[in-house]
Amino acid sequence: MTDPLSTPLQFIKGVGPRRGAALADTGLHVLEDLLLRLPSRYEDRQRLQLITDLKIGEATSIAGKVLSCGLRSTRRRGFQVFEALIEDSSGQIRAVFLNQPFLSRVFKVHQQMVLYGKVEATRSGSGLQFTNPKYEGIPEGVRANSDKSIHTGRIVPIYERVGTITSKMFRRIIHAGIQQLPDQLSDPIPAGIRERLALPGRREALEGVHFPEPESDIEELNAFLSRAQRRLIFEEFFAFQVGLVLRRLKTEHTIKTRRIKVDDRVRHSVLQVLPFRLTDDQKKALKEIVRDLEGVRPMNRLLQGDVGSGKTIVALIAALVAMENNVQVALMSPTEVLAEQHFFNLKQLLSESRFETALLTGAMGAQDRRRTWELIASGGIQLVVGTHALMEEAVDFKNLGLVVIDEQHRFGVLQRARLRSKGTKVDVLVMTATPIPRTLALTAYGDLDISVIRELPPGRVPITTHVKDQSQRQEVYAFIASELAQGRQGYVVCPLVEESEKVDVRAAIEMASDLERIFTGYNIGLVHGRMASDEREQTMKGFTEGAIDLLVATTIIEVGVDVPNASFIVVEHADRFGLAQLHQLRGRVGRGSYLSHCILLRQHRVTEMAQARLDVIAATSDGFEIAERDLGLRGPGDFFGTRQSGMPILRVGDLMRDHRLMEEARQTALTWVETGGPSKDKLELVLRGWSDRFGLVAVG
Ligand code: ADP
Ligand code: MG
Repeated sequence: MTDPLSTPLQFIKGVGPRRGAALADTGLHVLEDLLLRLPSRYEDRQRLQLITDLKIGEATSIAGKVLSCGLRSTRRRGFQVFEALIEDSSGQIRAVFLNQPFLSRVFKVHQQMVLYGKVEATRSGSGLQFTNPKYEGIPEGVRANSDKSIHTGRIVPIYERVGTITSKMFRRIIHAGIQQLPDQLSDPIPAGIRERLALPGRREALEGVHFPEPESDIEELNAFLSRAQRRLIFEEFFAFQVGLVLRRLKTEHTIKTRRIKVDDRVRHSVLQVLPFRLTDDQKKALKEIVRDLEGVRPMNRLLQGDVGSGKTIVALIAALVAMENNVQVALMSPTEVLAEQHFFNLKQLLSESRFETALLTGAMGAQDRRRTWELIASGGIQLVVGTHALMEEAVDFKNLGLVVIDEQHRFGVLQRARLRSKGTKVDVLVMTATPIPRTLALTAYGDLDISVIRELPPGRVPITTHVKDQSQRQEVYAFIASELAQGRQGYVVCPLVEESEKVDVRAAIEMASDLERIFTGYNIGLVHGRMASDEREQTMKGFTEGAIDLLVATTIIEVGVDVPNASFIVVEHADRFGLAQLHQLRGRVGRGSYLSHCILLRQHRVTEMAQARLDVIAATSDGFEIAERDLGLRGPGDFFGTRQSGMPILRVGDLMRDHRLMEEARQTALTWVETGGPSKDKLELVLRGWSDRFGLVAVG
């Protein structure tokens, strides 16, 4: 029997080939994909209120006819207001929408609309109004309060629009899809577990999340705490955790063939290269890493630490320990600039040692690259620093034993596995500056052990942050001049708006030539993403060595660049940057003993959200706190950003919102696997689809 949930969407009533293709474009192919796209929220339209009964301050829905509507301009230039007057049998209310001119295509006179929002008094005080309410047109012939409608008269699911597919379309086809389901669906959650946790069956849950029973608790639904929602979220987390447990078991059964020992000779060698005393956190992290290296099972560890916390030296010492034991080390960075900087740093630190370091990036000439490959294969090089180029087929190590991956969030799980497969039973250390609350990291990374560096190296002078308006530019330049006069260096960062790299590059070039005119007698450098990498490398090198005083850059300096003499960073259009980016950028300064400054130049008029970000960044420099505030501003869904994050790609669950359930799933999965629960068939059912998405089981 074929699984009814695998029915291609075009065969669902009301979809057809054309809409099927549109859905496929958004990643929805079969019925299950559609049904696991949960409503983002719910609206209680069971009791539509009469307009006369509305109370100011209350959030509620009404249904009525559009009496009049139109767009008007306001005194503030470039600011548009769309207004509609809505009438029901009892009275009228005004709906005001700010800067949404497209609504003149949505609202039509005489049309029936349902509006949902918070009731306010009009400016004059004599009437009622909604500002930016949720709205939905009701098709001709459907009574707003009729229980036949799937759009009104009930608790209505609201879906995020994707491309051309509106919330209403989703509602219709999801409804049709559910009607097509049989009463029973095979259930990946084992019956015993389902009973213990009192989870509803799969069919019931799917229906319950999309079309909740009348009188369901709407607050609970909007908090994603209904039984139906929890059941589906649990199902997803459970599969994920079972995958992790299995993978973990597999590594636990893997025994390394090499033996790494730390004796006096190794200790001596480490002390020779160590340029400073390690902080307590660094020592602790290092101890954990070295214990893993010496252990019999391959290391799989995440080293977490804010920008500037000093992860590099910890990685270098781990590398030294490995190399002293005749094992090769590879360090992979997400960008060329970063790889280059790591390379120069490490090479310098290792200059007194007997080990050879090489750089391997895609930008190198074919000849250089081939020569490096040979040296890696023959063992002539012990430490290779590089980019993705390290993972190429042609790269063949003599004896790769330790892989260090910097800035994990840019690499996925599969890439980790690919590099690891270049050696046998390789130790892996992943470094990230993304501050992830510990409990969350434990459950989300699951298969990784975690070390954290929280304290910053001593002697750091705090960085002061100033938000300045564009109109204060002269003041900022005067400040730059005084810093330069004292021999300091600094950065001027121009934003990279991805849609048009060309324009950004032009802006950066113009900025550089402006600054050249203003700061005569100083050397101004420029780096941007469209430059040949050797040219960029030359400039970066010039800046690192102090030959360049002022470096104009697009955001490619974001991670890792380290110049202690740099005491200021000016960020142009700071309102366009995200919090994480601003935090990373600010981390470029304050790396030496000089008082450092971060100057955020903002446009005169910015959005509320942008202002909130600037306020946060000005108020604190603690990465964990910034991450939490970021979460508050953006909502959990965006926290880890994109698919590149290396975090699991979840469809129904949310790591932040549902972390308790993840913990429950983790415990349950552990017990289930350990007590020998899973038959092969059941395992396949649980893990269906997941191994492709994460390489969960295949990766060892
Ligand atoms: P990140 O964790 O962001 O990669 P780095 O490893 O680049 O940070 O370290 C930031 C700066 O701090 C570097 O200049 C490094 O040499 C310095 N540093 C690291 N650890 C210490 C320490 N224990 N004492 C003094 N300086 C340190
Ligand atoms: Mg770093």
